[in-house]
Amino acid sequence: MLVFGNWKMNTDHGSAVALARDLRAAFGAPPPKVGLAVFPPLPFIGSVVAALDGSPVGVGAQNCFWEERGAFTGEVSPAQVASVGATSVIVGHSERRHVLGDDDDAVKRKLQAALGAGLLAVLCVGETLEQRDDGTAEAVVTGQVDHAFGGLTSGELDRTVIAYEPVWAIGTGRTATPEQASEMHAVVRATIARRFGEDAARNAPILYGGSVNPENAPSLLQAEGVDGALVGGASLEAGKFAAIAQAASLAAG
Ligand code: PEP
Repeated sequence: MLVFGNWKMNTDHGSAVALARDLRAAFGAPPPKVGLAVFPPLPFIGSVVAALDGSPVGVGAQNCFWEERGAFTGEVSPAQVASVGATSVIVGHSERRHVLGDDDDAVKRKLQAALGAGLLAVLCVGETLEQRDDGTAEAVVTGQVDHAFGGLTSGELDRTVIAYEPVWAIGTGRTATPEQASEMHAVVRATIARRFGEDAARNAPILYGGSVNPENAPSLLQAEGVDGALVGGASLEAGKFAAIAQAASLAAG
């Protein structure tokens, strides 16, 4: 099980470090069978890495550019985030896709760049409410996975985590039911199986994201095919994040 916390564009330097220290205290004895990571705003990554040093909580970036260096004002490369201690990067988050203009090609290039720099990549996919209502959710999610995975090697798949995050459930307080999450995780797994075979698909970690909190985490994390959670709002409180991690540990058995 994996529990990842996406802090989005929240916290300032002081509160980011304070949150990291609270997490360090909360995870003195990490829950068994759970991998943990947080994704702070870019400028705070180095300080959060330092504050979490020696704890089981890894640190990643919420986004990256696909070029390594050069005249790309405002962008940050995977190698640069790795150089301040990040070990993973999120690509294709719905806010990047729908608010900040990352299309499937950009997501694919970012995924390849992140993997090329030796990072773990967290690929987010998910349908909008309109797509769910018009019956195209499965096709949309299959297309997003297929596009991003074009050219991916099986070795790279081993360093990729997928997060199924229905857009209508992110930051809205609405969650997918455990059955809806299972259905869509099966769609993602079938897409992986067509490219890499059943074994690889079975082993690929697929997280659910969308208004996960300590109350709904137990049922979502016990749902068939759910290998963890990508948590936004609730990851900004160490106690809530720890409770979700505890639920993940119980679900892992
Ligand atoms: C997210 O940021 O990926 C997310 C799922 O946010 P929230 O938990 O706030 O819906």
